[in-house]
Amino acid sequence: MSRIIVVSLTLFIIIYMFIPYLITRIWGLGVTIRGRSARQVAFTFDDGPDPLHTPKLLDVLKRQGVKGTFFVLGSKAEQNPELTRRIHQEGHQIGIHNYTHLPNWIMSPRHIRQQHVQRSADIIERITGERPTFYRPPWGILNMGDLFSLRKSYRIVLWSVMGGDWKVQSRAQPLKEKLLKRIKPGSIILLHDSGDTWGAEEEAPYLMIEGLEEVLEDIQMKGYQCLRTDELLMQES
Ligand SMILES: [Zn+2]
Repeated sequence: MSRIIVVSLTLFIIIYMFIPYLITRIWGLGVTIRGRSARQVAFTFDDGPDPLHTPKLLDVLKRQGVKGTFFVLGSKAEQNPELTRRIHQEGHQIGIHNYTHLPNWIMSPRHIRQQHVQRSADIIERITGERPTFYRPPWGILNMGDLFSLRKSYRIVLWSVMGGDWKVQSRAQPLKEKLLKRIKPGSIILLHDSGDTWGAEEEAPYLMIEGLEEVLEDIQMKGYQCLRTDELLMQES
């Protein structure tokens, strides 16, 4: 009997968790991890909106004339409607990052769709008047059900460049250096405008926002255009 349980559990882990991980994170199938456009990139910011950090980040983006994409948590958008409206009004794209920061591996596809994605989409639409169509799961973790069902209604976007900005940056390789080395035409860059997610350091967003301003100045001087993710991907279709 216990053997049956072990075999079933192993099969479940392989089918529900491991195969989707392989398909999306290793092979990049069923999801978008980058665009193909020359000299165009998309900056994306997860885990907000955060009353402490997001306003400062929006100021930086405005100063640099850059539009980005915010993958927000529905619960935080609900708590910060003014800030969510400001993101939208300043021309940035809003995508969904679940209602709370939970991994999709521990939830059923139906629960994710109704309690996280649709619930967050309803909140964002109520605040901004526009329903989001892009989705990024927390930690980029998808299950097999998401790959079949969510993909029909949402474009699932992961990333090609990870800033590692949830930790306070090491002096040896600051964010600026790391990003400038990795950004290529079509890159989708993952950053965070909140430090209260599990595994993140509270101080980290201050340093990210400080470093980002220099990165934006630098890459725009090199002729890169920084676009919303939907605009970056639109150039291809
Ligand atoms: Zn996240």
